[in-house]
Amino acid sequence: MDHSKAEERVRELSELLERYNYEYYVQDRPSVDDYTYDTLMHELADLEREFPDLLSPQSPTQRVGGEASSSFQKVGHAVQMQSLQDVFSMEQVGSFAAKVHEEYPEAVFSVEPKIDGLSVSLEYRDGVLTLGSTRGDGFTGEDVTVNLRTIRSIPMKLRESLPLVEVRGEVYMPRESFFALVAQQEENDEQPFKNPRNAAAGSLRQKNAAVTARRKLDIFIFNLQQCEGRTFATHDETLRFLEEMGFRVIPNRRICRTTEEIADAIRAIGDSRNDLPYDIDGVVIKVNDLAMRDALGATAKTPKWAIAYKFPPEEKETVLREIEVNVGRTGALTPVAVFDTLLLAGTSVSRAVLHNQDFISEKDIRPGDTIVVRKAGDIIPEVLRSVSHAPGSVPYRLPECCPVCGTRAVRDETEAVLRCPNISCPAQLHKQLVHFASRDAMNIDGLGPAIITALLDAGFVHDAGDLYHLQKEQLLMLEGFKDKSADNLLAAIERSKSASLDRVIYALGIRNIGAKAAQLLCAHFGSLEAIEAAQPDEVAAIEGFGDVMAASVCEALHGTSVQTLLRRLLEAGLTMPYEKLQAATDTPFSGKTVVLTGTLTMKRSDAKKKLEAAGAKVSGSVSKKTDYVVAGEDAGSKLTKAQELGVSVLSESEMLAMLGE
Ligand code: NAD
Repeated sequence: MDHSKAEERVRELSELLERYNYEYYVQDRPSVDDYTYDTLMHELADLEREFPDLLSPQSPTQRVGGEASSSFQKVGHAVQMQSLQDVFSMEQVGSFAAKVHEEYPEAVFSVEPKIDGLSVSLEYRDGVLTLGSTRGDGFTGEDVTVNLRTIRSIPMKLRESLPLVEVRGEVYMPRESFFALVAQQEENDEQPFKNPRNAAAGSLRQKNAAVTARRKLDIFIFNLQQCEGRTFATHDETLRFLEEMGFRVIPNRRICRTTEEIADAIRAIGDSRNDLPYDIDGVVIKVNDLAMRDALGATAKTPKWAIAYKFPPEEKETVLREIEVNVGRTGALTPVAVFDTLLLAGTSVSRAVLHNQDFISEKDIRPGDTIVVRKAGDIIPEVLRSVSHAPGSVPYRLPECCPVCGTRAVRDETEAVLRCPNISCPAQLHKQLVHFASRDAMNIDGLGPAIITALLDAGFVHDAGDLYHLQKEQLLMLEGFKDKSADNLLAAIERSKSASLDRVIYALGIRNIGAKAAQLLCAHFGSLEAIEAAQPDEVAAIEGFGDVMAASVCEALHGTSVQTLLRRLLEAGLTMPYEKLQAATDTPFSGKTVVLTGTLTMKRSDAKKKLEAAGAKVSGSVSKKTDYVVAGEDAGSKLTKAQELGVSVLSESEMLAMLGE
């Protein structure tokens, strides 16, 4: 490749990887699987090796990965939390072992499963857990002590009270908990987590530790970072010591000498993979002797004494039998591939979402095709491509009418999605009621999908308002209801009459409005009347809202169906209480959006840190949502825009004064 082509590709790869990093580490919602990400990262590293002048310090290859997000207190790590160099072949494993043996012929290796979770550090002072933090960029992470305390297998106290012990471990979500969580998210029409790793990361960074506690996370400890009061010669010794201290230490590890032994151990771990109740994404091979580790040292990002062998994703061929069309809560018609059952990464799969017409057309997927299916992130199966069409097949088109009620489907101009516009469509109604009763909405205990089906089939319920007029005699007519269970359900429905306003708003099932958005809406407007009177631009001005969400809210709340439902709910006696939370006012910047522009005397990154520490959100562009623009020397277009929009402009010294400096 010539230099200019390489330069362009490096730029392209850097941008792409930065975006994937953001999706993965900040949003916990990757759009590509790890294998694709790793392959692109390797391509970039190869190019930078071939053209060293193209390597910039900001390159994604130079970062450990995560960045501490601004919502938790930042903590520095006394011992850097490094990442690992990853390899994809046994040859690369062999050359790693050979390199180590060149210097230390007597070296042995600890070979361990690589748990697919996220790394945390736990610090114990005088035997008591004092700090738990995420890895962040390896040097600075987030203080998530409160959330980590909800993990039962983390000891609060060690069996021996040493002055200082810091360990590193991998927090993960057991597969079963992950499936349960995804099922619940799908039921609530929320975007489900893509894999257990992202679910674990998202759960650990919950603002509300009670949510973390419900998510059933667990941990394996895999390293002793620092220890005062004891010395050790090998990694294996440290792990045995940690076991004695009461930690849940990484299981199934083996001490290996030769490359053959390492290869055997990798195979054994690979074979056990499907039987484990949690995900592993590879195997870690580490030099066991601690003095050798020190001597071998590290690069900026990874130690030279360890590597991670990553399992390739599994792909298999099968035959697509049909394309089923499901109707969602908001009427979205989702095509689902139904194919001959396959065993992929340990589970049998026979269905995969095909997203929309564009996805199907682009890949030209037709019923009867031989298709390739892969499990991305080893969890959610996806159709990669069609290998061949069955004779006589024609390109597939989604039906023009809703498969459940027969109403003509419409395609939103802004979205690739087809929708059934009939708000009384039985499929939508069922899902809406399930959503209405769900835990984060009205939290009606015992009102699950099966009972809702029975209520709809019996004609006792036609919308959520009818739930509040149900009679005990009606319930007793349904199969499975006894005196007590009928009383219990009616009591749960009665209790839900005092659900807070934000829950009611969420329960309405407005498109694009999840539980968080409903809370923001209530925090901003404070009452149902104020929300109903709100105009789209007022809603769009709320931090966290965009034009699409604002339009959804206003369209729904001004529409007759939601209005009728709300009136019926109020008549039924729902109180919809809401107490406006006092915004945190401890610093003049808390909750404010600030833009920095021009040349400041301090480094821009330092100014950003100071502002974030004071509760501000630092943004890159000026809009009407900006609260302050801090302008240094030679400020240009951003300053002009701020003046045009009437945003308050501060000098650097004014900013420092407001920060109390
Ligand atoms: P990594 O997952 O490649 O490996 C290092 C990590 O393994 C360690 O930090 C540690 O947390 C963990 N680990 C688990 N068991 C261990 C054990 N027994 N001993 C030592 N460590 C163990 O590296 P990373 O820096 O955590 O994450 C980078 C990876 O994240 C990438 O390789 C990629 O696969 C994934 N990623 C994916 C996307 C995407 O969009 N799909 C984006 C960014 C990153």
